[in-house]
Amino acid sequence: MKQVVSVIIPAAGSGKRFRESVHGPQPPKLYSRLANKPLIVHTLGAFNHLPSVREIIVAVEPGSQARFRREILSRLKLTKPILLVTGGRTRAESVWRALKRVSKESVYVCIHDGARPLVQPEWLAHLMKNLNGWDGVVLGKSIVPTVKVFERKTGWIKRTLNRSELFEAETPQLIKKEILINSYRSLGQRAFQATDDASLVEAMGGRLKALPHSEPNIKVTTHQDLVLARNFRGENAVPRFGLGFDRHRLVPERPFYLGGVRVPAPFGPLGHSDGDALLHAITDAILGALGAGDIGDFFPNTSKSWKNVRSEKFIREVVKLAKERGLRPSQVDATVILERPKLGIYKKRVQVHIAKLLSLAPLDVSIKAKTGEGLGPEGQGEAISCQALVVLTPIAPTSILLRLRGRK
Ligand code: MG
Repeated sequence: MKQVVSVIIPAAGSGKRFRESVHGPQPPKLYSRLANKPLIVHTLGAFNHLPSVREIIVAVEPGSQARFRREILSRLKLTKPILLVTGGRTRAESVWRALKRVSKESVYVCIHDGARPLVQPEWLAHLMKNLNGWDGVVLGKSIVPTVKVFERKTGWIKRTLNRSELFEAETPQLIKKEILINSYRSLGQRAFQATDDASLVEAMGGRLKALPHSEPNIKVTTHQDLVLARNFRGENAVPRFGLGFDRHRLVPERPFYLGGVRVPAPFGPLGHSDGDALLHAITDAILGALGAGDIGDFFPNTSKSWKNVRSEKFIREVVKLAKERGLRPSQVDATVILERPKLGIYKKRVQVHIAKLLSLAPLDVSIKAKTGEGLGPEGQGEAISCQALVVLTPIAPTSILLRLRGRK
């Protein structure tokens, strides 16, 4: 097949909403991992081997070209010429800058959002097959929900749209090059406000065909979208297990915290934080399941911020970390090795408290108590030790989808 298509990838967005949705330092959106590669590598890879593609032009954030070459282009075995241009202030301005660099020989341009990494090579071929007689073809979804028009200020619902006529535009959008260029030229500055390219062609009276499909084609805007994309890629398909252990010296006149529960005793665990060995073991188990290091890496006892802090805080932080990876604790099994006080009545309370902390049912948390049989530091009453096993399982894509639907 002749190389008649130039692919344009707008990838110059600042990723503000993504940054705001992320906990702690993370790579920029397009550099985030999906199936062990930066997200944008998946997007570019889908177009790299298609016979009809002449070249790929990527609009990147100002000042990011060197990094893009180093971290992205070096990972792709490129068979197509690739050109980087500096993006504009809006998505449409970025596309316009790329359009100006398209080869003379190309008849069509295919625009595809950099942040839609689930794109498949077949999709472009499918668009091409549907071109006959049209100025362009747009991939998207038939709208299932009931959509209403309302006045944002008062909430007044003005009318309900006929959903059989509604179509949610996605990318790729395949458009005749001359027609798109003319649309940008004619609309001038106004064109730069457009949120997709099809709307410019529509505004100029061009005839575009909507091509509904049902494949997942998530546009990664927030971190939740990335989690969803990962789940669609089959990441997190198997549960992950983590093992944790902790031991603390017992000293007089320290409050005795176990699993976040205050246990009455004339002594308690010595520690930089509250010395809660059980919560520390569970924290380490969660980090272990994530392959993310240990409690000392995250909450160093040299840092003032963790001094005398309640250990529930550690748990909340690592649960957040798991959530960002699309995982959540689904089971805990722990053993406490302690000579005295006898845990008897506290075991149940600790179980319920930890279950609540991890948003689990009490039956998903098991707390077993052992003595040291008079042997070793635990047996001599000098220390408390705890072991924990934690299972992390994927946050179901459906529950994320429901939450996504609910967002503004
Ligand atoms: Mg500890």
